[in-house]
Amino acid sequence: MSFTVFAASVMHETHTFSITPTTLASFKAYQYLQGAAIPKAMRGTRSEWGAVFDLADEFEWKMIHPLSAIAQPSGKVAADAFAQMLDLIESGLKAALPVDGVLLPLHGSMVAESHDDAEGEILKRVRALVGPDVPIAVSLDLHANATEEMAALADIITTYRTTPHTDMYEAAERAGRLLQRAMRKEIRPSVTLANRPVLSGLDRGRTIAGHGPMIDILQMVKQAEAEEPGVLEIGVNAGYAWSDVPFTGPTVLVTGDGRKPAYKDVAERLAEHIWTTRGKDTVHLISMEETIRIAAEKRPAGAGPLLIGDYTDNPGGGGHGDGTNLIRALIAAGIEDVVVGTMADPQSAQIGLNAGVGAMVTIDLGGKIDPRFGGTPIRLTGKVAAVSDGIYVRKGKFATGTTGTMGPSFLLDMGRIRIIVATHRTQIDDRQQFRIYGVEPEKANILACKAMNHFRADFEPMSRKLIYVDSGGICSLDYKQFPWTKLRRPIWPLDLA
Ligand SMILES: [Zn+2]
Repeated sequence: MSFTVFAASVMHETHTFSITPTTLASFKAYQYLQGAAIPKAMRGTRSEWGAVFDLADEFEWKMIHPLSAIAQPSGKVAADAFAQMLDLIESGLKAALPVDGVLLPLHGSMVAESHDDAEGEILKRVRALVGPDVPIAVSLDLHANATEEMAALADIITTYRTTPHTDMYEAAERAGRLLQRAMRKEIRPSVTLANRPVLSGLDRGRTIAGHGPMIDILQMVKQAEAEEPGVLEIGVNAGYAWSDVPFTGPTVLVTGDGRKPAYKDVAERLAEHIWTTRGKDTVHLISMEETIRIAAEKRPAGAGPLLIGDYTDNPGGGGHGDGTNLIRALIAAGIEDVVVGTMADPQSAQIGLNAGVGAMVTIDLGGKIDPRFGGTPIRLTGKVAAVSDGIYVRKGKFATGTTGTMGPSFLLDMGRIRIIVATHRTQIDDRQQFRIYGVEPEKANILACKAMNHFRADFEPMSRKLIYVDSGGICSLDYKQFPWTKLRRPIWPLDLA
């Protein structure tokens, strides 16, 4: 017997202190696919949708999928944009009823102007339409700020288990396989949540360092899944700290068969690890002075590039992506053979594109969104070395095969330093982002990247060293500087030691 499965995806990581609004245009600039356009773009990729369509083939599901929307992390999602996406989901579901199951790949830390818990609202609307007995499965990003409402409304929740995220496919696949079992009535799953008063923890979810709290807790998860009767899946979310909502922070989500008090015990036991390891970070940001000192060291023969992660200005974490402090310091120090990817500045990008390849241009680059964070505009003169539509297909291990876009853009060549000047705010996550401008990233002395974690999958293996600079961007780890009003208190590290 084949089932009818409704699927929809809306993903946004909302930096509630960012003044960059997240509008429908923000989604359309990144991904806004409807109906048949979704399998056309996503089939065969290592994304959640790649898993959804593979499972649909395997189990012969009849699929209804009205929407897949993703926007670059930024400020709160505009109320009208969220309403329009909810409407597409609700009307698509109404037209499809009755359905046997629901599969929702969500991020889990989206905040709308109208709703602090945007995913909770999506689930509420879907649950209201399908009723209490149709199983709903959700897959989440590891940086979800999961809520009690989400746990109560969903029957199954899975979470990525890698940062950089290289297992989006696997997380959705686990959700889909459990959904199939629930639709066949082999299981009657429920979700139990536990957390601790911690704003940011579990080493921000990093699994690449080879050690650290996230790796340890995933080991504990494996054991609990094997040993605890009825436990089907345990999701561990590291949370997303720059979000002023009551429930921000790491969580443990236990999906178990039926409802048993033992699931709460398992969740609480694991959540204790969130508390005991608070403050244990495998990544430390260094000062601009220290960064420049390391950048000035001579490159050993045959060694790959020095990777500088411009952590606090990473658009992938909600940063503006147009901060100039690092560029200013690299130029002032006369550092040789630097490539910067990418500066978000649509006005400057247009100047380069209008001038064309080979032309000399002078631009006031960056510092336009909110110069209090990351630096003011910097006047630069250089040659337009290459132009591009900014579209790239990922070849590295992060989201392999999916398409990203930096938008209309050009490579500014100033001799010692080359800078990708792009229309969209985009983190660096794949070497293709350099290659489309004719840059061979392996050959550069220094790659200065607006990035935190995901770029490590493709870049770290070929680099000689990775350092992270605090350039004063909005993804600062000094949480006390932000004007918190909604966050639950007391909480570590703001109030508790
Ligand atoms: Zn994430």
